[in-house]
Amino acid sequence: MTGLTHFVVVGGSYAGINSARAIFAEAEAAKTPIKLTLVSASTHSYYNIATPRYLVEPDLLNEKITFDVEKSLRKHAGINEFEFIYATVKEADFDLKTVKYSKSNDDVTDLLSYDYLVLASGCRYSNKAFKLNDSHENTLREVLRLSKSIKSATNVAVIGGGATGVETAGEIASAYPDKKIHLYCGSGILQHLGERVSREAKSQLEELNVNIIPNIYYTGIETLSDGKQKVIFNNDTSKIFDEVITATANIPNTEFIPDRFKNAKGYVKTNEFLALEKYENVLAIGDVADKSSGNAVDILYYHLPVLKKYIQKNVFKKNVIITPVKSHAPIEIVPISRKGGVGVAWGWSLPNFVIWLLRSRNYGIPAAGKFL
Ligand SMILES: Cc1cc2nc3c(=O)[nH]c(=O)nc-3n(C[C@H](O)[C@H](O)[C@H](O)COP(=O)(O)OP(=O)(O)OC[C@H]3O[C@@H](n4cnc5c(N)ncnc54)[C@H](O)[C@@H]3O)c2cc1C
Repeated sequence: MTGLTHFVVVGGSYAGINSARAIFAEAEAAKTPIKLTLVSASTHSYYNIATPRYLVEPDLLNEKITFDVEKSLRKHAGINEFEFIYATVKEADFDLKTVKYSKSNDDVTDLLSYDYLVLASGCRYSNKAFKLNDSHENTLREVLRLSKSIKSATNVAVIGGGATGVETAGEIASAYPDKKIHLYCGSGILQHLGERVSREAKSQLEELNVNIIPNIYYTGIETLSDGKQKVIFNNDTSKIFDEVITATANIPNTEFIPDRFKNAKGYVKTNEFLALEKYENVLAIGDVADKSSGNAVDILYYHLPVLKKYIQKNVFKKNVIITPVKSHAPIEIVPISRKGGVGVAWGWSLPNFVIWLLRSRNYGIPAAGKFL
């Protein structure tokens, strides 16, 4: 025990890494070293945002799209003590101020005490290629498997009308115009971005010959003996595809958090300062928080400023006012092929040229290291 204020951060992706950087920087500014331990179920972070492009251009997996968490954070530690633990947190006790973690799949756990806890364990996804689940190698293996399967397929079903489903259908249809791509979009395409954007996305997908099927929901997927996949729908029909990609559900990684701190969907309930009610030394940052709209933009522009002020005030006793986390109109860019896509920022829809410049041309891959 060093006697330094101890921060424990759970999660080694956009939220965990940027929270750790912010905490280091605030301690440096206050000339008061702290100890920070980051526990993550993956040694590397993953630039998942470009996954739809990796699926059709798997050579991109050779680019810098994963980052060694310990190495990259060590550079930012400065005067502070830093430890990285590659492990899965199994239990958190906010009264005792401890977390229990396990380095392997057995039941053996170690205990870590904290003064401040940052929950940044994010969400996993319905398809393993799109997010870190455990090791980054497993995620990349799934991307590669899927890309090979798409290449040899004649017909592919993408299930999900949100950004991931739309981007994935657009990328495959554009890279492989001879394949038949079916997009099952439930209640509609990009509904959360408004009618105008939804219409524009639909028209761009139709230009790429994507077959858009609304108002049918899948209830199950069976893998057949020849490797094809049978999708069963809620209207008692089924259809067979060479490959099926589900892009439907974010599942919060909160199994280690007691139920009373979670909402009905499993996200961590926080107050307007991203702290837990009555446990103000515990914060939830990123996708895991109920105040998140599920994108990395939220973390960088809305969560981190709150975290920084919180540390200045509560840890370093500066006389600052913490501004509550703001709800805001969506900021989202959705590439639909290399040529462009759709997007909105603070209620304004963005022209195709801006979408191309900011995202479609290279999916932001060259700048990935800035955030991870
Ligand atoms: C295909 C796709 C495209 C996207 N495009 C965009 C985009 O263009 N712009 C945008 O802003 N957002 C985008 N997003 C959303 C963005 O990916 C998420 O907002 C972001 O990943 C959230 O980061 P996070 O750190 O909160 O959680 P995650 O990225 O989910 O990371 C969670 C971390 O916690 C670790 N972890 C989980 N459980 C435990 C545990 N029990 N113990 C220890 N460690 C644990 C994991 O290993 C991981 O390191 C996209 C998402 C997808 C799927």
